[in-house]
Amino acid sequence: MSNNLDGHCLCGSITYTCDAEPIMTAICHCTECQRQAGTAFSIIVGVPREQLDIKGDSLKVFETIGDDTGATAARNFCGTCGSPIISVLSNAEDIAWIKAGTLDDASWLEPELEAWTSSAQPWAAMPEREDRGYFPRGLDVG
Ligand SMILES: [Zn+2]
Ligand SMILES: [Zn+2]
Repeated sequence: MSNNLDGHCLCGSITYTCDAEPIMTAICHCTECQRQAGTAFSIIVGVPREQLDIKGDSLKVFETIGDDTGATAARNFCGTCGSPIISVLSNAEDIAWIKAGTLDDASWLEPELEAWTSSAQPWAAMPEREDRGYFPRGLDVG
């Protein structure tokens, strides 16, 4: 079986693979994700960090501080092409949040929740679904 959690950045300098099951898949509407991704929201897949293998020496890190938690988000991105790759939160350092747009195939994802809906763009709102959780602000998972 090919791995569902393989991916790469836009230029291909950064590749990653993960043989774990996703812990959680979410849509994040926070303003930092909007700015970093240059779009209305991030789709993120939480995986055990130790089972995520990232290769490529162009990986760079920019840290932001969460409004709610005060936790640091280490935003890892490709320094060559700028693609966001993962974020790691300082209050849950064993989880890597993959930016799902970099997956080789993201079509199988089923986001379980939407976070920071209070800062969601009104024109990007999706119809509410009964099988999805909605959180106006962040999550305790980080
Ligand atoms: Zn790149
Ligand atoms: Zn976010």
